[in-house]
Amino acid sequence: MSDVRSLAGLVFAAIAIAASAQADTTQPQPNPPRSLSPVPNRAPLLPDAFYSLPLGAVKPVGWLKNELKIQAAGLSGHLDEFWPDVGSNSAWLGGTGEAWERGPYYLDGLVPLAYELDDPVLIEKVRKWVNFTLDHQRPDGAIGPEKNTDWWPDMIMLKALTQYQEATGDARVVPALEKFFAYQAATLAANPLQKWAQYRWGDELLSIIWLYNRDGDSKLLDLARQIAGQGFDWKALYANFPFTGKVAKKDADLRSHGVNNAMAIKTGAVWSVISGNPADRDASRQMLDTLNRYHGLPNGTFAADEHLAGRDPDQGTELCAIVEEMFSIETLTRIYGDSHIAGRLERLAYNALPAVFSKDMWAHQYDEQPNQVLVSKAPRDWTTNGDDSNLFGLEPNYGCCTANMHQGWPKFTASTWMATADKGLVAVVLAPTEVNTVVNDVPVRIVEETEYPFAENVTIRVEPARPVAFPITLPVSPYTSETVIRVNGAAQRNLASGQFYRIAREWTAGDVIQIKMPFPVMVGTGYRSSVYVTLGPLLFSLDIGERWKKLERKGETADWEVDPTTPWNYGLIIHPADPQSAFTINRGQMGNQPFSPEGTPVSLTAKGVRIRSWKLVDNSAGPLPQSPVKESGGAETLKLIPYGAAKLRITEFPEIIR
Ligand SMILES: [Zn+2]
Repeated sequence: MSDVRSLAGLVFAAIAIAASAQADTTQPQPNPPRSLSPVPNRAPLLPDAFYSLPLGAVKPVGWLKNELKIQAAGLSGHLDEFWPDVGSNSAWLGGTGEAWERGPYYLDGLVPLAYELDDPVLIEKVRKWVNFTLDHQRPDGAIGPEKNTDWWPDMIMLKALTQYQEATGDARVVPALEKFFAYQAATLAANPLQKWAQYRWGDELLSIIWLYNRDGDSKLLDLARQIAGQGFDWKALYANFPFTGKVAKKDADLRSHGVNNAMAIKTGAVWSVISGNPADRDASRQMLDTLNRYHGLPNGTFAADEHLAGRDPDQGTELCAIVEEMFSIETLTRIYGDSHIAGRLERLAYNALPAVFSKDMWAHQYDEQPNQVLVSKAPRDWTTNGDDSNLFGLEPNYGCCTANMHQGWPKFTASTWMATADKGLVAVVLAPTEVNTVVNDVPVRIVEETEYPFAENVTIRVEPARPVAFPITLPVSPYTSETVIRVNGAAQRNLASGQFYRIAREWTAGDVIQIKMPFPVMVGTGYRSSVYVTLGPLLFSLDIGERWKKLERKGETADWEVDPTTPWNYGLIIHPADPQSAFTINRGQMGNQPFSPEGTPVSLTAKGVRIRSWKLVDNSAGPLPQSPVKESGGAETLKLIPYGAAKLRITEFPEIIR
């Protein structure tokens, strides 16, 4: 069966994939057919440039699928078996345990992981949390543990439920959300947003907009205005931004908190969908630019350990901030349709995200450092974090990341393809994926085969059920001026680096798009005029020998220190007139885990010189020498590997002059 929706001038078709309804009144209401089409914004909301495809429409293939399987076989698939905060005693499951953000955080990542992998064991785990939450909604509409009176954990649970509804079509979700928002509208004045919720209100707007697009109840927009009125004014903070360097411990508050800022990157743009105010729309872009200017790191994120920490590559970034910045940028990509913003997502996903996990994803850091030469339980120059913050382990420093880390890869996967306002599809980031959706009433399957970002070639097979005309929009890499896109062998014209390229035509099964991006090695300028090296979106780091030492068993996992077994205090010799001549690109076979020293299929060779005076200080690489550095020692051949593969690394190198 099919139905056609027409909203805000957009027409999308939906097809049914759920089992057909049986007329058996003794059974619970069957779920309505699950839609594979996006739901555009309903008037008077401002339209987005792109629309998310429902969860499950985009699935990982190739190395990305393997990455999600590694995740599922690691902490994400097993955490509930031994970590009490998301175990069966969670108050979100009716127990006497954790009653705040950890259960919802876990579910927010588990839902997309389970349905993208179609993993029956994980789906069963998801159902346990969702069923308990929906079955125990109180008569007044409240959800979750009764002892929790904070709106913040509810906001996370709402995000998990909307994803779950998209993946399953479960008919209970929309009425449960309607009831919850009615309850919130009735009680918000007496129990206003406090603390975290006050800073993270943009996350709730997403769920309100999601529901409004489905039921059109204008009271939801009144509630959104009430929430915005109580929420912290991020736009005003960034209009006169006080945190232009590392925040001192005495000045650290919720405004300088890394995760709050990462979440709030999206808030202005999301609010603008309701407010209609161009200044709100632009606030997110300005926030991202400002964070980048004062705290930006070459791995795509900003330093916050756990308060904004400047641009020194010895400073860390909390895992929660990385996955929340990714989610914010996925949201901004959708609202703005901006290729530069999508490029930021790519840098985060292919660099900062994999770096923070052990290769089996059974352990993670709280803080990751671009220049990370020792992983140990020891004090470091963090703003407020504790001595175990850069350990790989179960819950180094604090357990928020243990609960919240699961959303990174799955939400990224879901966001790689979106629908466009001109009734087409866009690959916002290149990645090995498969899309199943409906365009102009025609089921369309797209398979994107690639080892990108480790390789330069992408093959996209377009397989509509019958010939159908629609545009496919693709990113033209900003990292080369020589991208070639071919459609059935014919080279496309007028490609602009860093922009989206639109191919509008009738597609027939068997059509093939090929993308070739001959990436040159590029050298960027970092902190204290240091240099960092990229090949396409991949950032490269010195391959330092690692000795992993188990500190302590923690349930089914353990905490680990990592010692360097080879020197790290190198500067790079770059030839200013021809930087590329300083590097050799080495390509090989991809291993099971491409974000590991032995599994990466690409590495670089460079020349470097040890800087004898550059030593360990406070358990991190000592102050980065101001470049250029005059050093006459013998040049050595160095191996650089992708940042995400190097758990010990130098990423911002002093530049050597002879
Ligand atoms: Zn965290």
